[in-house]
Amino acid sequence: MKLFEIVTNPTPSLRVRSTDVDLAEITTPAFQAYLDVLTETMLVKDGVGIASPQVGRNIRAIVVNIDNKIDCYINPEITKVSEAIIEGEEGCLSVPGVYGLVDRHKRITVRALTRHGRRIELDLRNFPAVVFQHEIDHLNGVLFIDKMKRKTGDSGKHI
Ligand SMILES: [Zn+2]
Repeated sequence: MKLFEIVTNPTPSLRVRSTDVDLAEITTPAFQAYLDVLTETMLVKDGVGIASPQVGRNIRAIVVNIDNKIDCYINPEITKVSEAIIEGEEGCLSVPGVYGLVDRHKRITVRALTRHGRRIELDLRNFPAVVFQHEIDHLNGVLFIDKMKRKTGDSGKHI
């Protein structure tokens, strides 16, 4: 399988608001194949998550890998956030060599479509909530370095 190249900062397309995926497109073989390559790219590059703009396609699709459970989410939307904040160390495949502390909501609710176009709602807390906030930021042209409080050492954690 040919993998995608990772787009790195400061490429302008990383700063664009990505567009929704059309429901009718989700189940097409071409789009399913795209999600497979996006997933494989994340795994080979050792990412915990990846967002479509990171491979140069400005559409609202992300892949998340939490405890080896890998799922694709289409048109994800954060519908609820906790006041409680969690501080975590983040890094990003699109920002090589930079790691730092970012404040995120400790709990969030996400609405999205699965890779089969089914509507789902997820209640997430702690690290999974951090990963989704990081990936959904990518869909809005936001990078973690915009929110970073201070740099840390290499955690090897690429979200
Ligand atoms: Zn990232």
